[in-house]
Amino acid sequence: MKHKWDTIGHLKQLVRIEKEIEDKTITHAYLFSGPKNVGKFRIARMFANILQCPNNLCHKCRDCKLIQSGSHPDIIVMPDKGDTITIDQVRDLIHKTNLTSQGKRRIIVIENIERMPIEAQNSFLKTLEEPPGDTIFLLTSTRINQVLPTIKSRTRRYFFYNIEDDVIRKYLIEKFGESSDIEEIIQIAQGRPGLAIQLMNQPVVLTDQRNVYNQIDFFLKKNDIVRKFMLVEELDKNAEQLEVFFDAFSRYLRKQLYVYLSQGDHSLKSRYSLKEIVELFESLEKTRYLIDRNTNKKLALENFLLQTEK
Ligand SMILES: [Zn+2]
Repeated sequence: MKHKWDTIGHLKQLVRIEKEIEDKTITHAYLFSGPKNVGKFRIARMFANILQCPNNLCHKCRDCKLIQSGSHPDIIVMPDKGDTITIDQVRDLIHKTNLTSQGKRRIIVIENIERMPIEAQNSFLKTLEEPPGDTIFLLTSTRINQVLPTIKSRTRRYFFYNIEDDVIRKYLIEKFGESSDIEEIIQIAQGRPGLAIQLMNQPVVLTDQRNVYNQIDFFLKKNDIVRKFMLVEELDKNAEQLEVFFDAFSRYLRKQLYVYLSQGDHSLKSRYSLKEIVELFESLEKTRYLIDRNTNKKLALENFLLQTEK
């Protein structure tokens, strides 16, 4: 690597980006898609920084100092804070891109472009079709099916994937030292280094994961439709918690299958056959898929949890 990216994994993608910089084949719009928390947004920001520093991210020049303090006038960063990007914000952004930039080029980094409703995406599309001056858009997306095909076709695509456990483990040990939590965190993170780091840094998030996991254990061992539906009410209002729920459920079932395949037994044996556990697993994935595509969340979750009743 020519540049110090300070990211985890994705070597192929980084090599490709570096080659583009070297060959001067940079285009005006990029779309980085892939699972949440794998490092797309971080790489997009690093890419922006590398492009703005005249000395390839030297950490010493005026540009680098402004980048470090988060106040570079020619880098606009829009992180996903769980908010949508309104059509007014898109107009404002277009206005800003039309102003003359102070530096060599203006770079706009937007996390999860699908946060723009279709109307806003359409408005944004016009800017992508006729990009003003020396502007580069670095867009990321976690739910690519919610991005207009016309936006996709006007960007240079990069695909990101989950990172191998070994790579994450090595990074965590180097950065945080040995810890008894590391193996559990790798299990939870399932290839997403951003989540692994968050779990290392914030014990409260790890505790939350453990609580949800224990609740699932309870749900699968007892009939309690009232409590299950109460949980659905909560999950319906909290997208982040819903994700924790899906992750924990998937991890739980995977563990049951693993134990069964390696030891021929599993703790749910008295309630579910192996076939039923596999079916639950499939149903979980299906529910997640449907909710991603805007199916009635509450109904889908209720249907899924009903299957755990006996
Ligand atoms: Zn510099």
